[in-house]
Amino acid sequence: MANVADTKLYDILGVPPGVSDNELKKAYRKLAKEYHPDKNPNAGDKFKEISFAYEVLSNPEKRELYDRYGEQGLREGSGGSGGMDDIFSHIFGGSLFGFMGNQNRSRNGRRRGEDMMHPLKVSLEDLYNGKTTKLQLSKNVLCSSCNGQGGKSGAVQKCTACRGRGMRIMIRQLAPGMVQQMQSVCSDCNGEGEVINEKDRCKKCEGKKVIKEVKILEVHVDKGMKHGQRITFTGEADQAPGVEPGDIVLLLQEKEHEMFQRDGNDLHMTHKIGLVEALCGFQFTFKHLDARQIVVKYPPGKVIEPGSVRVVRGEGMPQYRNPFEKGDLYIKFDVQFPENNWISPEKLTELEDLLPSRPEVPNIISEAEEVDLQEFDTTRGSSGGQRREAYNDSSDEESGHHGPGVQCAHQ
Ligand SMILES: [Zn+2]
Ligand SMILES: [Zn+2]
Repeated sequence: MANVADTKLYDILGVPPGVSDNELKKAYRKLAKEYHPDKNPNAGDKFKEISFAYEVLSNPEKRELYDRYGEQGLREGSGGSGGMDDIFSHIFGGSLFGFMGNQNRSRNGRRRGEDMMHPLKVSLEDLYNGKTTKLQLSKNVLCSSCNGQGGKSGAVQKCTACRGRGMRIMIRQLAPGMVQQMQSVCSDCNGEGEVINEKDRCKKCEGKKVIKEVKILEVHVDKGMKHGQRITFTGEADQAPGVEPGDIVLLLQEKEHEMFQRDGNDLHMTHKIGLVEALCGFQFTFKHLDARQIVVKYPPGKVIEPGSVRVVRGEGMPQYRNPFEKGDLYIKFDVQFPENNWISPEKLTELEDLLPSRPEVPNIISEAEEVDLQEFDTTRGSSGGQRREAYNDSSDEESGHHGPGVQCAHQ
């Protein structure tokens, strides 16, 4: 084991090796905020490094291992907890389970099979509450009947055409003294380097060495996981003789939610209120992602401007691996104004007395031109071209641009 003091993980967090847990946490929080992928999408690797360093150093056992034996201590003591493998190779260059670093060669030099990627759709509720789900998939496993040999022992023979190499080299003379060497897959053994007589082939796998098997994986979706996050099952991909199986990688796909939009650990929602609520206070309830009923109160005397946003601290998404810390919930208010002529003119005068007073009446000179203020649908846009079109159009088409109330006035 390494005996040189390894301080890389401390360096990542910018703290000295003897740092207290409290200082460590502070340093981590500051960096995690700074490099959070939501704020800093290009710093994803840096964020992973920071999280990894903190994960190790905040765990007394792992920190002890790391302090005593460095990186090597972690490799041997970790037992491969989820997600450690790839970040390991990222930080330390090497790789824990032959992941990353060198995709096709494993630690012990065997060829490594391909990783299998599956999307996994999850609801926002699942990501808030965490969920364990079972995933059924079909994969190749080595045939148990022939131990992945394809036939009885002794039945497998080295291909004579390629002398077991699976490849044949052909030499072509291009010109006197000039030859071209070409390598091609051996056609006798299909590149496998060995052949099995038909009668000696394994009955179960028909000499294919592998058979399809249904595998059920138990998938733990942790609280606070995000869209695009990977859950890795090391070595669970297709098996093949002489090949170290690759990983099954599940790629989380967050489904759209009808009420909330997620932004990192924060949630956003829109709530409709009436004018009376906007001016005189209100309370409303909604069902949160964990089915709690939440009551939101806003006292009389406080005003909500249309389109404005208020925040409820700590009611956002739980943080991944730190689920008691939550993001915030932002509520945008859509203020519904009353319809035209909702109140009699006399009442309107009464209302005006109650409302904040008007600005002073402007001074209108005799040459002033009075213009007509019309209904306008903002969804139709306000470009100059649109307006010109309205002027050029015939009158009945033009009326199509107005609300029904205006049309009535024309008739
Ligand atoms: Zn077999
Ligand atoms: Zn061959």
